[in-house]
Amino acid sequence: MKNTLPVLTYAFDALEPFIDTQTMTIHYSKHHQAYVDNVNAALEKFPELFEVELADLIKDLNQVPEAIRMAVRNNGGGHLNHTLFWELMTPGGAKAPEGALLEAINATFGGFAQFKETFATAAKTRFGSGWAWLVLTADKQLKVVSTANQDNPISDGLTPILALDVWEHAYYLKYQNRRPEYIDQWFNVVNWNVVNRLFEEGKK
Ligand code: MN
Repeated sequence: MKNTLPVLTYAFDALEPFIDTQTMTIHYSKHHQAYVDNVNAALEKFPELFEVELADLIKDLNQVPEAIRMAVRNNGGGHLNHTLFWELMTPGGAKAPEGALLEAINATFGGFAQFKETFATAAKTRFGSGWAWLVLTADKQLKVVSTANQDNPISDGLTPILALDVWEHAYYLKYQNRRPEYIDQWFNVVNWNVVNRLFEEGKK
């Protein structure tokens, strides 16, 4: 199947004032659309790969023909990452995790505040463009990692449950050079229900 933009379940202005309307509009309609178009253009050269789930291609990039491997890594990764990112945000959601996820966060990081600090540090110190992630490792432990460009932790055998885009296009119109402020404010729109669901699915 050809890749398409996912349906956004909230309006472009729904995450105001933390994520501004113009950034959401351009980020979704232009940046994400470009990743979709570019990964489709690459896969057109090997159309049998449209039969494979994109996530499965990104999990094992060595199975992707070398001629399009970098295009699939960058643009397929971009499509996958943004599809998750939109789902991980919501207006007026729960401000913190609960239940088994909260217990695991407390056990791993020493508390929710300490987790946020660890995650924010990973996001702040990612040099250039990339992402910060909360993942489940192969042995089902929580871990904070960051990746460059549009790389996704599934390429390293990890299961992402929370993702933050720290490319400048994600925050520059509102926050300019103040990436730490963007990271801090973004926590106001995290959809912890989705993080919790991904945690439960990943633990299986
Ligand atoms: Mn982005």
